Amino acid sequence: MNFKIALIRGDGIGPEIVNETVKVIDRVGEKFGHTFTYVDVLMGGCATDTVGKSYPDGTAELCRSCDAVLLGAVGGPKWGSDKPAEQRPETALLAIRKDLGLYANLRPAALRPALADACPLKKETAEKGIDLLMVRELTGGIYFGKRDKYQTEDRGVEATDLMAYSEMEIERIGRRAFEMAMLRKKKVSSVDKANVLETSRLWRATMHRLAAEYPEVQYEDVLVDNCAMQLVRDPGQFDVVVTENMFGDILSDEASMITGSIGLLPSASLGSTAPALYEPIHGSAPDIAGQDKANPIATILSAAMMFRYSFKLAAEADAIEAAVDKALADGYRTADIAHPGEAVIGTRKMGEVICNNI
Ligand code: NAD
Repeated sequence: MNFKIALIRGDGIGPEIVNETVKVIDRVGEKFGHTFTYVDVLMGGCATDTVGKSYPDGTAELCRSCDAVLLGAVGGPKWGSDKPAEQRPETALLAIRKDLGLYANLRPAALRPALADACPLKKETAEKGIDLLMVRELTGGIYFGKRDKYQTEDRGVEATDLMAYSEMEIERIGRRAFEMAMLRKKKVSSVDKANVLETSRLWRATMHRLAAEYPEVQYEDVLVDNCAMQLVRDPGQFDVVVTENMFGDILSDEASMITGSIGLLPSASLGSTAPALYEPIHGSAPDIAGQDKANPIATILSAAMMFRYSFKLAAEADAIEAAVDKALADGYRTADIAHPGEAVIGTRKMGEVICNNI
């Protein structure tokens, strides 16, 4: 099969980690008999420098002409908050998510066996293993609701942010979560604050309706405060965790940290139609850019998600994940995941080792 992949290399370490990932994708192609056409898409600070805006005209159309989008990272101090919105890389990130309709953000948080000692939790908790998938609603809720700030007569300035969710928005993210669970351990934990919030009561009622359609999936409601606690007490209990935008923002960072390094964690953002977007959860790490120090694993594992969810090629995805696990089990470490005194390799060497493992 031939697949067309949009590459947004971006800023900072973006180009370095995308380069290594492309090598891995090509190696999978050789091994499994696929070919790939790459379309370079200019976006982020580098686009501001080249054409004067971070999200050049036609970016979304170019991405839509591809089967999937792979993003390194965008941003850096050069294009800070003192710059006009159209020059800031973050503007481009929000725009691409909106234009591609990417309402579902998937973040697996798995403790890779060779790095169990990187888990900050109690040893006996880590030993039980962590392998959960956070499914976060990405285009609704309080981050997108109406906001206001006004002067009151007796209480100074007051500000409001509106949290709104429709049944349609809840149902489509819920369905995504149940479908993911069917491919995994068949458990969904739906996180809300139904004891307080009206949006959460609608969320819960909608999830219950969906749960009836997936009798094979074990379903539970979890209050968000309890979920935050359970994630550090016993994360092994979770399979798929689905929640609204703001709760998901906070809980997915918590889930990431319990598995160790930021340089290891991939993500996928999916809409109703292709293309989906795949990216590491970390940023552009300007402090180590261009020094062959960045860990490419999060981006390489994002490519594995691309094979699994966009190309529906599970064996290829498994092969990438196994190649990463073997590199780690064989003791290869970039600086971010090395213990003091341990030998360290660079971005390119890590890419090469993983390629050779496929
Ligand atoms: P960051 O994730 O870029 O870096 C945080 C720390 O982690 C740094 O010390 C960095 O060196 C390290 N790190 C990150 N990725 C690494 C990797 N792959 N290998 C080794 N070490 C790694 O977060 P930040 O410093 O807060 O942000 C830097 C820039 O990235 C900002 O401009 C921010 O807006 C942007 N950003 C972009 C995205 C994105 O493109 N999706 C996401 C988050 C932040």
